[in-house]
Amino acid sequence: MSEHILWAESAEEPAPQTDATLQGVVDVAVIGGGYTGLSTALFAAQAGMAVHLVEAEEIGFGGSGRNVGLVNAGLWLPPGQLIKALGPEYGPGFVRLFGEGPAQVFDLIEKHQIRCEARREGTIHAAHSPKGLEDLRTRAEAWEKLGAPVSLISAEDTAALSGTQAYCGGLLDRRAGTVNPMGYARGLARAALGAGARITCGARVTGLRRDNGLWQVQTGKGALAARQVVLATNAYADGLWPGLTQSWTEINFFQIATAPLGPEAAAILPKGQGLWDTATIMTSLRRDAAGRIILGAMGRLHGDRTGGLSAAWARRRLRRLFPDLQIPAFEGAWDGRIAMTQDYLPRLCRLEDGVWAPMGYNGRGITTGTLFGRALAEVLRGAPESSLPLPVTTPQPQPLTGLRRTALGAVFSANQAFRSVL
Ligand SMILES: Cc1cc2nc3c(=O)[nH]c(=O)nc-3n(C[C@H](O)[C@H](O)[C@H](O)COP(=O)(O)OP(=O)(O)OC[C@H]3O[C@@H](n4cnc5c(N)ncnc54)[C@H](O)[C@@H]3O)c2cc1C
Repeated sequence: MSEHILWAESAEEPAPQTDATLQGVVDVAVIGGGYTGLSTALFAAQAGMAVHLVEAEEIGFGGSGRNVGLVNAGLWLPPGQLIKALGPEYGPGFVRLFGEGPAQVFDLIEKHQIRCEARREGTIHAAHSPKGLEDLRTRAEAWEKLGAPVSLISAEDTAALSGTQAYCGGLLDRRAGTVNPMGYARGLARAALGAGARITCGARVTGLRRDNGLWQVQTGKGALAARQVVLATNAYADGLWPGLTQSWTEINFFQIATAPLGPEAAAILPKGQGLWDTATIMTSLRRDAAGRIILGAMGRLHGDRTGGLSAAWARRRLRRLFPDLQIPAFEGAWDGRIAMTQDYLPRLCRLEDGVWAPMGYNGRGITTGTLFGRALAEVLRGAPESSLPLPVTTPQPQPLTGLRRTALGAVFSANQAFRSVL
């Protein structure tokens, strides 16, 4: 299998120059160059702290350079369930903050002039069935009660906005939008460097131990000492902190991108919204600035952009959604890992005194990583922990995560096989 990650090639922001020498003592060592790590580094550096971010591969190598690019408000759970799950102390504030999440992301993009194809036309959560539509109705009512610019749209309006008759309605969230996800990650890195943070890529952290009151961060390219550490490795965590990866179930999500399309595809998402559906095995659909269609679904990439099961799935899906479209060539095919928690809530964990680990974003990381990084930077410089959007916890190992990952992977692959012929 060979991946072609569209965003790495199409992002207008270049990969930043990130070869700072690893040495000395810093206030904060950030491990992981995705949204969480980059946002932490940006805001901590802006606050005058000495920050060094260390990334094993390159900026955006993890979920941040591979995702769909839907800048969504809220989380997987609807607001009422979130408030219930988080309780009166954290629930209402969390829902308010995450409702405003896209605005914070788009403000940052504007402030730092991040070139990431940002469009704020909203997103469509499309109902794949009448039951899906009922779920969306409940979600829409809950957000409307909170005054959010969210509305349930008819099957006709969904067809006009998406270009397909496949859905029986949808929820249009005008707070949301789309970005080129790698462009956003690289732009955050540029902003963090501009604020004085140091970044080193291609340096996997292999050891983290406390010595004389400082955390020693060991890599193949040298070491540094830090007063505090943010382990921002999320679903791409390796064995650096034993047991961490048992606190969520890893699932995969793959995407296929067509070649740029012209007038023949003008009716497909003509206003530029990103779309995902209510199916249990969720699929996504969006356009990019060059006019490509990008399709995605839960599961691993099988094959590559030229052939194999995933390309067959994408051809079949395009035919079902847009029967008049001549099936184009595919330019991109890739997948990524998502950390799913059992209750669909993210976590802000403290692993030990001075070591933080935000994680488990359940596929909602553009806003979550940005907001968590910002909030964590405040706490790193001395704000009380009670200012964080969630209570601080420790990682709780979930039973049978390996088995669940294998079982879900098998179900997703079977679905791809089934849907590529049906
Ligand atoms: C295919 C896909 C589609 C998605 N779609 C959306 C979407 O449309 N909207 C949305 O909001 N969210 C989406 N998500 C979720 C979102 O991408 C993630 O939640 C988010 O990118 C997580 O950011 P992060 O910074 O926490 O982690 P990541 O971006 O995963 O970064 C972790 C980094 O840590 C590095 N690392 C790991 N171990 C080490 C080590 N030992 N030393 C140094 N570095 C290390 C990795 O190389 C990696 O770059 C999607 C995710 C995927 C995979």
